[in-house]
Amino acid sequence: MIYKIIKKDEFKKFINGLISENETFGPKEVERRQDGKAVYQFKEVNSFDEMDLDYTVTYSSLKNFFLPFREELSRFNFSDDDWKQDVEYRVNPRAIVGVRPCDINALNILDKILIEGTYPSPYYLARRKNTFLVGMDHEPLPDCFCESLGHDTVHRGCNVFCTDIGDRYYLTIMSSKAFKFLKNVNVSDPTKDDDVKFIERRKYIKSKFETKVDVTGLPSVLDIEFKSPVWKKWGDKCLNCGTCAMVCPTCYCYGIEETIDVSLKSSRKERVQYSCNLVDFAEVAGGHNFRPLKEDRLKYRYYHHYRGFAQNGEDPICVGCNRCGRACLAGINPKDVIDDLQMES
Ligand code: SF4
Ligand code: SF4
Repeated sequence: MIYKIIKKDEFKKFINGLISENETFGPKEVERRQDGKAVYQFKEVNSFDEMDLDYTVTYSSLKNFFLPFREELSRFNFSDDDWKQDVEYRVNPRAIVGVRPCDINALNILDKILIEGTYPSPYYLARRKNTFLVGMDHEPLPDCFCESLGHDTVHRGCNVFCTDIGDRYYLTIMSSKAFKFLKNVNVSDPTKDDDVKFIERRKYIKSKFETKVDVTGLPSVLDIEFKSPVWKKWGDKCLNCGTCAMVCPTCYCYGIEETIDVSLKSSRKERVQYSCNLVDFAEVAGGHNFRPLKEDRLKYRYYHHYRGFAQNGEDPICVGCNRCGRACLAGINPKDVIDDLQMES
């Protein structure tokens, strides 16, 4: 990795340069909640000044840029004695600015599943390869727990990562594309003093985490607590709305829908994001449901996140953003559920 220092007014020039060459998205306030707090989302921007880089967290995760809620996988056209399939996964170059470490780490996890897995997704790959990511650190919210899972910092997965050291950013350059873009603006090599400021900033952010989740031995705890009353306690509260999976940056389960045109001349196959908390997620032909109980569905989501991948020597796929906890109308959040499980064991 290469490290550089950029003054904040020069950084603005760098981002405006990116905007002039790419479809660019950045954090924007979209509305105010009843308690007066701002709600942020990544939206298209036409200049640096439209972004609010001091934002706390976006309500939806970055996942939707790579795994849209609904996407066409292929289109079929039928004629008398033939048929043709069209598949389109080209994506124009785009940039996303101000991405938090947990969201970048979530993409690194999705990369393992959707690019390095047995069945890579060309749709996801096309979007990932054509998206320039500018990461940025931030002070955690009181309920963020990414630090407990080791996702409060990033070492890969974005093009450049910016650490705020006062009137300048300490840049960690992670791609040749970023290095080339930065040639258009004034940057300098970090001094010893800058290195110290960088490390101090990291330590400061680490010290600001108020929520800690004990994930010690969690896969084994889940094995042991398969029949725990904790699942019923939280399952009974669940509304089966699926919101947690929609806002989660690593939930990737989906359903396939096929629509045939009334003329029977064409059809479309689409991927639609789905949630294991929805009542019919495990329903099969004939109406049998493998997970008819709310507690079983809730448990399944936790096993997928914290145990399933550990079996293959991988880490949990939760990055600790607590978006699911914030969005859940029933007040269910990973910290409370995991705390209960750790108390049981
Ligand atoms: S845990 Fe909460 S957000 Fe998720 S399905 Fe249940 S009620 Fe909805
Ligand atoms: S905290 Fe919730 S939303 Fe965030 S990664 Fe973990 S399971 Fe997903």
